Amino acid sequence: MEFSFLTMGTASALPTANRYPSAHILTVRERLFLIDCGEGAQMQMRKYGVSFGKIDHIFISHLHGDHLFGLFGLLSTMAMGGRQGDLNIYAPEGFGRILAFFMEQFGEGIKYNINFHPIKCREPQLIYDSRQVEAFAFPLVHRGETYGFLFREKEPQLNVHKHLIEPYKLSLYEIARLKEGKDLVRPATFTDEDGSEVEYEQTLLNKDFTYLPYKPRSFAYCTDTLPFKRLAGWVKGADLIYHDSTYTNEYSELAKTTFHSTSQAAACCALEAGAKKLVLGHYSSRYKSLDTMLEEARAVFPESYLAREGAKFEIELEKYKE
Ligand SMILES: [Zn+2]
Ligand SMILES: [Zn+2]
Repeated sequence: MEFSFLTMGTASALPTANRYPSAHILTVRERLFLIDCGEGAQMQMRKYGVSFGKIDHIFISHLHGDHLFGLFGLLSTMAMGGRQGDLNIYAPEGFGRILAFFMEQFGEGIKYNINFHPIKCREPQLIYDSRQVEAFAFPLVHRGETYGFLFREKEPQLNVHKHLIEPYKLSLYEIARLKEGKDLVRPATFTDEDGSEVEYEQTLLNKDFTYLPYKPRSFAYCTDTLPFKRLAGWVKGADLIYHDSTYTNEYSELAKTTFHSTSQAAACCALEAGAKKLVLGHYSSRYKSLDTMLEEARAVFPESYLAREGAKFEIELEKYKE
């Protein structure tokens, strides 16, 4: 039951000799979600063993080249690989024009369907929903329309405490009702002082008989953005947050004028959101060493980590005991 985030590109606008522009893979069980698709994403996917055929959903945060220029090559490669299944792309609505132009110029060999899902929202909005996972988009504060994403596993079905089945003589039907979250109301009897049986309606409260087998996991993607107050509330309780960390504190003014964040601001967001872990990325090309970047984040939020090309961050399944 994998839930992991693979960072394949950690550069900001300018790639360096060993940093690629943004492109990442979120794996939720068997499903792969490509998040942003900067230049070189296909080569990175090959390098890290990501199968193109397993990607049916691509999420693009905004229409800056460092998050998008790898997509067109990938669409062509998928066609050359004989892709048949639909591909879904979630991006700001302006992407529609770009896709139409691309298809007009280069789309002849692309035989599979591309479903474009335009994102337009000012509050968190559900944009993807399946049996096991749902994804929300929320607006970020950057140059041009930009969205972050929150992926969340769905609540699992409730389990019934085994040790209560026998004493309460729960029928299969009643167990099924409890698993659906319902209380049980059933006829019962008790013997009163005179020794006669009295009938009454017994209510068994769902919460006394059930428990969640595991805690649903969640991941938030927050790049590129200025820090802003409401963000932490929108990603509250996320197990893992990936956050824009373009600069160290030394360049906090530059972060403001370019609508980016420092690693310290990223850490403040993770702290306020009550996240378990923070992954920093989208580093300015001026940094050879990222030590200061990490130190400044950890001073605020100790569970901060650096994204690197090929690094995978796993969220373990937390099982609840009976
Ligand atoms: Zn960027
Ligand atoms: Zn940008």
